[in-house]
Formats: sequence, structure tokens, C-alpha cells
Amino acid sequence: MTKPLFDTLAIIGPGLIGSSIARAARAQGAVRTIVATARSPETRKRVVELGFADTVTETNAEAVEGADLVIACVPVGVCGGVAKEIGPHLKPGAIVSDVGSVKGSVVRDMGPHLPKTAHFVPAHPVAGTEHSGPDAGFAELFENRWCILTPPEGADQEAVEKLAAFWRLLGAKVEIMTPAHHDLVLAVTSHLPHLIAYTIVGTADELGSVTRSEVLKFSAGGFRDFTRIAASDPVMWRDVFLNNKEAVLEMLGRFNEDVSALTKAIRRGDGEALTEHFTRTRAIRRGVIEAGQDTDAPDFGRPHGHDD
Ligand code: NAP
Repeated sequence: MTKPLFDTLAIIGPGLIGSSIARAARAQGAVRTIVATARSPETRKRVVELGFADTVTETNAEAVEGADLVIACVPVGVCGGVAKEIGPHLKPGAIVSDVGSVKGSVVRDMGPHLPKTAHFVPAHPVAGTEHSGPDAGFAELFENRWCILTPPEGADQEAVEKLAAFWRLLGAKVEIMTPAHHDLVLAVTSHLPHLIAYTIVGTADELGSVTRSEVLKFSAGGFRDFTRIAASDPVMWRDVFLNNKEAVLEMLGRFNEDVSALTKAIRRGDGEALTEHFTRTRAIRRGVIEAGQDTDAPDFGRPHGHDD
């Protein structure tokens, strides 16, 4: 068994991501003790029943007392409020992190509430599913997935290394970048695809001449994968778009230009332009598989787990 990297881990918001971290940390012996807390009594009760935490507290403040590593696993828009609550109760030397899908806003909202004696190292595990809540988590979620750390300027190097080691122990590959760069990269690789999925599933639903049963029946023709993505948590994704507004609008602008170009090619019957475009995108898909980020298996070989 590995020597634990931390004595006590506090998870605030043990939903899909938080409960997966707790499960994986326990499975790998990454920490000695796990404390969890959730805002709703229902979730707290469920966490006790599931048993992936040693202690379940009622408040965020209680959860972080004595914790060496604190990870906020709540929607991005809630992170600032959580930091305000826990700030005065953090142990000197504690590492404070999060898992939010947007990093600039988290640094902006959490940073000012944290004491100088704590080390703030924001993180984003690029792994997830469309399911939510403590039952949805599983220990293998982060295996072979990226976890991006976005330490603020002047961050304690030892704390950054320790958090990186924690994520590696959970099976993730770690990359470090600035919050702004993270938000730009994720805007095109995750946020825009989610917006497209939300749009197209809504469009299909509103079609009068194609019945809903036909949409469901023939969904394997491409629509099905969009419905999976569009089933992702509405609150989480509302917060992503509200908090990564500029980068998403920039990518959306480029996307709209490309859609216009393809629209023109279809209208003009320009088969050459279409073939050229689709050939280029096919090569990108091959690159994704070669990078080990997906499989060539039918159904994308994906009973669970995708990147968010
Ligand atoms: P989740 O399963 O819905 O869990 C969210 C947790 O946050 C729950 O414990 C919930 O408590 C708590 N929470 C929600 N609203 C709150 C509020 N207003 N105040 C306090 N606590 C609140 O969500 P998740 O998928 O784990 O996502 C959590 C974070 O991970 C988000 O920041 C998201 O951007 C990020 N992330 C998600 C994915 C993904 O694929 N889902 C991937 C990478 C990163 P209750 O149960 O008591 O409501």
C-alpha cells in the first residue's frame, strides 16, 4: 500500500466528481481520513450510506477544520461562497483546490477569501459523465485522463507538486497551465461542443414535421451522442457558460464562420470543399485516438466516462 500523501482530505460537494475523488483516494491509499460535506441533508445521508467518507459534517467550516487537502467540488458559481465560508477555518499549510470546469473565475472568486497561510492550487480533472450526485461517482473515473492545474503566480511549488502527485496517484496525467489558457482550450474542446449538443437536441425536439418517436428511433445516425452530452447537469453548465463567457463567445464566433462556409459549400454544390473539410476532420479524430483519449470501438467503447 502507498504511503498516504495527506492525512485528512475534505471534500466539499461529494457529487459525481467529489465522490469519485473520495473513492479513488481511498482505493489508492492516497489519504488517511476523508471528511465530506454537502449542503443538502439528503446528500449527506446518502454519503453516510455509501460509506466513501469516514466523517460527514453539516457545515463546510467543520469539514475543513484540521484538513490538509480541501477540494471544493461544487458548481463554479458557488466556489467563491465556499471559499468565504472555509477561509477562517483552514489549518495553516492546508492546500485548497477545486475541480471547476472554468479556472479564471474560480481564481478570481476564491483567491481573495483564502488566508495567506493556505496554499491555493486550482485544478480541473478533464473527466466526467453526464450523471450527477454521490451515487454516480466511481474510483476509476480519472484513470488515464488529464488533470489540469492552474496555480496562481507565486504559488508554493511544493504544494503544486504535492497536488500533482495526488492526482497522479488517482490515475490522472497532470498538466500545468495558466487559468486564462485553460479557459481558452476548454472553450473549444468542451464548452463549445456542449453548447452545440444543447442546441441540436433542442432543435430536433422542436421539429414539427419529424416526430419525436422518429428522432428516437433513428438516433444512432449521430444524434444519440449529442443527447448524451446534452443530458449533462444543467446547473453546472449554466455556470460554465456564465463564467467562461469571453472565451466561449470567441470560439462561437469562429464556429459560426465555419458553419457559414460549409453552408455556402452545400448551397453551391461544392463537393470539393466538403470533401476537403471532412478529410481534415477525419485526421483529427485519428489524432484523438492515437493520443489515447478515446477508442475506435463501436459506441466509442464508452459505457461510462467521457471528458468534460
Ligand atoms: P454534481 O454531481 O451535481 O455534484 C455537485 C455537488 O455540489 C453536490 O454535492 C451538491 O450538493 C453541491 N452543490 C450544488 N450546488 C450547491 C450550492 N449552491 N451550494 C453548495 N453546494 C452545492 O456535480 P459534478 O458533476 O460533480 O460537478 C462538480 C464540479 O466539477 C463543477 O464545478 C464542474 O464544473 C466540475 N466538473 C464536472 C465534470 C462533469 O463531467 N460532471 C467534469 C469535470 C469537472 P447537493 O447534493 O447537496 O445538492
